[in-house]
Amino acid sequence: MAFELNEKVKNLKPYDPICGDFEIRLDANESFIQPSDKMMEDVMNAVSNVALNRYPDSTAYDVCEQFAKLYDIPSNLVVAGNGSDEIISVIMTAFLQKGDKVITLTPDFSMYNFYTSLVECECIEFAKDDDFNVDFDKLILEINNINARMVIFSNPCNPTSVGFLAKDVKKLIENTNALIVLDEAYMDFWNQSLLCDVQNYDNLIILRTCSKAIGLASIRLGFAVANTKLINVIKSAKSPYNVNSLTQAVACSLLSQREYIEQSIEAIKNSLDALYFELKKIEKKFPKNLKIYKSNTNFVFIKTQDAKQIFEFLKTNGIIVRNMNGYLRITAGSQDENQKLLNQIKKFYKVG
Ligand SMILES: *Cc1c(COP(=O)(O)O)cnc(C)c1O
Repeated sequence: MAFELNEKVKNLKPYDPICGDFEIRLDANESFIQPSDKMMEDVMNAVSNVALNRYPDSTAYDVCEQFAKLYDIPSNLVVAGNGSDEIISVIMTAFLQKGDKVITLTPDFSMYNFYTSLVECECIEFAKDDDFNVDFDKLILEINNINARMVIFSNPCNPTSVGFLAKDVKKLIENTNALIVLDEAYMDFWNQSLLCDVQNYDNLIILRTCSKAIGLASIRLGFAVANTKLINVIKSAKSPYNVNSLTQAVACSLLSQREYIEQSIEAIKNSLDALYFELKKIEKKFPKNLKIYKSNTNFVFIKTQDAKQIFEFLKTNGIIVRNMNGYLRITAGSQDENQKLLNQIKKFYKVG
């Protein structure tokens, strides 16, 4: 007898992030901001009150309330997940059937294609133009032509850092029957969110995460926001205790700190602007080597034939960025981290 792996999992490889000890990590779009000692004390208190022998609240009620309050939306439109990654997987499982067509935009977050393949759906890639914009009229035609069941994309986009205008995304939602899954993981850094419009649509799910602007990548917490018909499906399809009690306790403590969150976002945006400004100066000296895209996120995306060499050079010097086949993605860090990064890039290009 022999057990054979099936087609869809036969060639899967575990997700393989860059591991190891590096002085400066600018590869995963995390926040560089640490909560104050006082806030950490409150977090520890909240955690110490968790009953470890009990299952968590399966609805993550308090967390959803806090999130809804922070973004000024009704809490009955919100469901929490073990990172938005988990929610993507639940959405695919619940709303798709084998053979359904899913449109992704390329380039975009790689997880969309991965989860689509796991539910045995066909992933159709719609190419962005050279500046990573999308012709929405063409996209709408394509969706309706092939009768796509779902369209999923990030706005602003990881990895391109480019954002689409809310009016264009609305047009897309209003002119198709497909379910639009709008991943707003980086929307805290921009102002084109559709969160407040979500009730007007029966084919829109918005994803948000605590991993980026809010600085809680460690606790794995994300949210889906949609009208109650869609949200009830996600609530029913998710595993019952998907958000653990420790995560819920930490999140409740920190999500109530509106001022801290707003200040963090401002600080990250300032860091991004400063990093972008300095990188543009280097681009000006090496226009053939570097093309830097206007960023609506907390990272800078660079097209460069030197990607691999710069990546290796930085790595040797204790700095990790993301190398993506002719492109580099660099997260905005603290002032000190950005300075060290810029010094090394200048050293690479031998400029003062
Ligand atoms: C980082 C990121 C997420 C967040 O995933 P979590 O599982 O919530 O950490 C989702 N979508 C995109 C496009 C991202 O870059």
